[in-house]
Amino acid sequence: MAEITNEFAWSVSRHRSFHECLRLYYLAHYAFWGGWEWGASELAKKCYRFTKMKNLDMWAGEIVHAVIEWALHRLWERKPITGEAMREHAISRLRQGWKESRERQWEQDPKRRLNLFEHYYGIEVPPERTDAIKRRVLRCLENFWTSEVFAFIRSVDRAAWKAIEKVGTFHLNDVRIWVKIDFALAHRETLYIYDWKSGQEDADDLRQLVCYALYAMEQWAVPHDRIRIVPVYLQEGIAREQTVRPEQVIEVKEEILQSIARMRARLVDPARNLARPEDFPMTTETWRCRRCFFQEVCYGGRYEGA
Ligand code: SF4
Repeated sequence: MAEITNEFAWSVSRHRSFHECLRLYYLAHYAFWGGWEWGASELAKKCYRFTKMKNLDMWAGEIVHAVIEWALHRLWERKPITGEAMREHAISRLRQGWKESRERQWEQDPKRRLNLFEHYYGIEVPPERTDAIKRRVLRCLENFWTSEVFAFIRSVDRAAWKAIEKVGTFHLNDVRIWVKIDFALAHRETLYIYDWKSGQEDADDLRQLVCYALYAMEQWAVPHDRIRIVPVYLQEGIAREQTVRPEQVIEVKEEILQSIARMRARLVDPARNLARPEDFPMTTETWRCRRCFFQEVCYGGRYEGA
């Protein structure tokens, strides 16, 4: 079997971690490498574990995505699906994930078993917080079920569905760019790319979707003026359908290339994607450390500072 190597590749989440904290970026994209192997160093094992960690908000979003994916696959397979079944599926996942994390089942299987940040670092989770998470998940799913977007999806022939939670790549110059498209379909010579959002609107949401449009332009040979990007804010039940303007395509391409250049400039050997920790200093904005999954690596345990 060919040896897998830590290839340099760009993604929206990589870009975000680079801007969050350079040390976090180093730990999550370099120090973690090989941490899934039995003989790995303790540092690599810990970093790998933390790349799989989720906090309560991320977990809620993940369940919403997983249940919508499940429902869409059932529709694709012409199996029955109801709003009540989606709700039950979500509640079952919430129960299962909470148990996995509480029982530290991730110690045996860090890739597949949930490791909640709050449990790991002993952060108290009052019942009001877990109730709010459950309410948010169920509200998102209810809003999805009753949405015009879902009605539209059901009205379109499944032969025109292009992607359900599709992980794909395209290249910008020589760099692989990773994307994850929640859902896409083609209808009347227009490609619709959907992104399910279980959190609040963010200025970066559109940039992320334009990046996905770049993928669609290459992968499915669709011109930008035939693409609609649709972030769907499920808590509020709002879909913001937009066209993709040519200047957005140019801007986002340029931003990605600049982001790649900044990341590579910090590498000791860009051709081999080799990094040294001393070139990735810890952030001085220590309020970030309080919510960081890697705080045990930097501080030997929970960050107790201000
Ligand atoms: S704990 Fe703080 S310094 Fe360390 S990786 Fe996280 S954010 Fe960066």
